[in-house]
Amino acid sequence: MPPIIGVTSCRQLPDYTESVRRAGGEPVVLDLTKDQPAAAIAAIKGLVLTGGTDVDPARYGESWRVPATPTEPERDEFEMALVHAAAGAGMPILGICRGMQVLNVALGGTLVQDIATELPGSLEHTVPTPHQALAHEVWITRGSLLWTLMQEKLAEGDSCRVNSRHHQAVKQAACAFEVTATAPDGVVEAIECGTSGFCLGVQWHPENYWRTGEFRSLFEGFIEACANRTR
Ligand code: MN
Repeated sequence: MPPIIGVTSCRQLPDYTESVRRAGGEPVVLDLTKDQPAAAIAAIKGLVLTGGTDVDPARYGESWRVPATPTEPERDEFEMALVHAAAGAGMPILGICRGMQVLNVALGGTLVQDIATELPGSLEHTVPTPHQALAHEVWITRGSLLWTLMQEKLAEGDSCRVNSRHHQAVKQAACAFEVTATAPDGVVEAIECGTSGFCLGVQWHPENYWRTGEFRSLFEGFIEACANRTR
């Protein structure tokens, strides 16, 4: 029986559900209009937090310091409750793009509200099309969970190229997290809980490669952790 994996509803959902399926999981969509967070977590073996709009800065105690972007307060509320329930249960979590930002904010971290404004001179992190276009390098911390999962893909210097469709980023990582990948301009590209289980956030979009499999090892490692979970 493939492990049941909760995937938060979003606009680009098929890429996420197909990535889960190809890695050996059975995706179920978690929908804020239908699901209650604690009950949803009780029914799954792992949680995928998907991409989408910016987290309301009030969630990390700030007001907008740049022109406000559209937010989805109910989605923030729902997904942060999912993170709290999943983290409390020691459940494997994979956060992607907004999902990594939600993960960080839910556990007490903060965000760069707009990379171009707050980090002048940074690389271009908003390369919208095609979705698989490789935008910049990431440097991955040797020995981290991410590094272990991506070893076969990494070039000398523990780097690889990734796609990039984000204008926000992790600023202060929550104390549960270590930063385990950065772009050459210092923008945070991955966070993970070093000590226990599988709790990983990546800022790029590995789900866009489900047809060709460039980042399938991330999903496979995640699904394996979910399948091996005993409680
Ligand atoms: Mn990027």
